[in-house]
Amino acid sequence: MTQDLYDIPLYRPPSEANSLILQLTIGCSHNKCTFCTMYKAKKYREKSTEEIKEHINRAKQNHLIADKIFLADGNVLVMETEKLLSIIEKLYKQFPKLRRVTCYAGPRDILAKSEDQLLALKDAGLKMLYLGVESGSTEILRNVNKGVSADEMVEAGQKVKKCGINLSCMIISGLGGQSLWETHAVESAKVINSISPRFLSLLTLYIDGGTVLEKEIAAGNFKLLSPRQILEETKLMLENLQVNNCIFRSNHASNYIALQGTLNKDKAKLIKQVNAALNSKEFKEGCH
Ligand code: SF4
Repeated sequence: MTQDLYDIPLYRPPSEANSLILQLTIGCSHNKCTFCTMYKAKKYREKSTEEIKEHINRAKQNHLIADKIFLADGNVLVMETEKLLSIIEKLYKQFPKLRRVTCYAGPRDILAKSEDQLLALKDAGLKMLYLGVESGSTEILRNVNKGVSADEMVEAGQKVKKCGINLSCMIISGLGGQSLWETHAVESAKVINSISPRFLSLLTLYIDGGTVLEKEIAAGNFKLLSPRQILEETKLMLENLQVNNCIFRSNHASNYIALQGTLNKDKAKLIKQVNAALNSKEFKEGCH
């Protein structure tokens, strides 16, 4: 990666590890979630057409054979559709091996696009969107300042699917804290059931210094789950998930145990794995 090509820090989903990253926007236009520091040091802005052209030309010098491109930063879908369309079309012309373009998408950005606009983006080659659902509980979404309700999250996810774009959803284990862990598990499963995404990833809440959530913990207003409680929550969520052909991953560095399978086919096996961990010495109450 040519370091001076990017405004760092740069983030991408684990599944985009081998993708060329093109930075069309800097930061996140929302940037208000209480648990997130990803783009706190960046002031949101969209790159100009000239900057993007230069960025693509320079990236091309090193990555002409790129077959996957991830568009950064936090929510490229906020860009005006015509501009995004012309960039994606250009990418397929300039990178002869390109077979997919993907990006993160905020729920409000999805809702702001019409179905025709999303269909046009899909036809141009936008193959998958990564949607941070975080929680299926409206109360928790409000607490963390996500900016949408659970119903709006469902509407956004269903809209993406209706337009034929693959969808990868993320849920954050532990986001409800001790007081709302059951609500978080059950309501998140409900939202995922209603969206029925192709991919579902479970990450674990990590408290970064400087977040609003860190201050809430210090003030005693939010109590983190223990590793054992995180596993209890995962188990309850899995028990409530009813989806078909959904590739489930909980194997991020933040997760206490690695889980991977296809739901609902592998649900019993995944729950068995969680039970085995819960019965292990490592996760017995008091060990953490
Ligand atoms: S929308 Fe995503 S990137 Fe933006 S602040 Fe929230 S979690 Fe962070």
